[in-house]
Amino acid sequence: MGEWTGGWTSGGVAMRRRWAYTGGMSTDVELRCACGTVQGVVIESSARTCNRAVCYCDDCQTFAHFLGRDDVMNERGGTDILQVAPSRVRFSAGQQELRCMRLSPKGVLRWYTTCCKTPAGNMLHSPRSPFVGFAMRFVAPQGSALDAAVGTPRGSLHGRYAIGGCPEGVPARVGLGLLVRSVGWVLGNAVAGRHRGSPFWTASGEPISAPEVLTLEQRNELRAAVAGASTSTER
Ligand SMILES: [Zn+2]
Ligand SMILES: [Zn+2]
Repeated sequence: MGEWTGGWTSGGVAMRRRWAYTGGMSTDVELRCACGTVQGVVIESSARTCNRAVCYCDDCQTFAHFLGRDDVMNERGGTDILQVAPSRVRFSAGQQELRCMRLSPKGVLRWYTTCCKTPAGNMLHSPRSPFVGFAMRFVAPQGSALDAAVGTPRGSLHGRYAIGGCPEGVPARVGLGLLVRSVGWVLGNAVAGRHRGSPFWTASGEPISAPEVLTLEQRNELRAAVAGASTSTER
């Protein structure tokens, strides 16, 4: 664990900085749902330890519709997502408000808070998931304070689903640079075992809340509101 070297306050959000063993300046970034019931922190956050990108995919948009929280997306339907290692996540309050769902039986696990329907992390449906991705609405620091802590987004992906067509500069699918970086980052977490201590899983390897799996009909109904998405017959 690194040594505490000071602190600053931005937008009322206190953050601690430290020079961690991760090889550079890192920060504890606070997590907070919209109503403040669920709170936590991502320790050792930096542009190196985190992976930030804006996802325009139909599933992320469908999830926002499921929550009734279109405001978690930008005006083109993109969700700014901060991927972190699950072992670096700690909850300090309101963990009992966390629930999860899957858009389909094979879909990723998507957490949210019951108190105010804030997205609270997506991950593989496995206690060994090497990442959890937080929509920015669940991250307390915003704007330049957040950029300073974890870096700006490394790219955008799945622009073919964006509202109003693929935005300029956004790949239709996934750009090579972001893909290479993301795969390397995920593999690094997997090799280092940074799933251990994930607060989303019990010691016996179950999600702390049983996932709700949408039916095909429920999913297609939500998808109908997503630009560029087609309904599916595959469960
Ligand atoms: Zn809340
Ligand atoms: Zn997505």
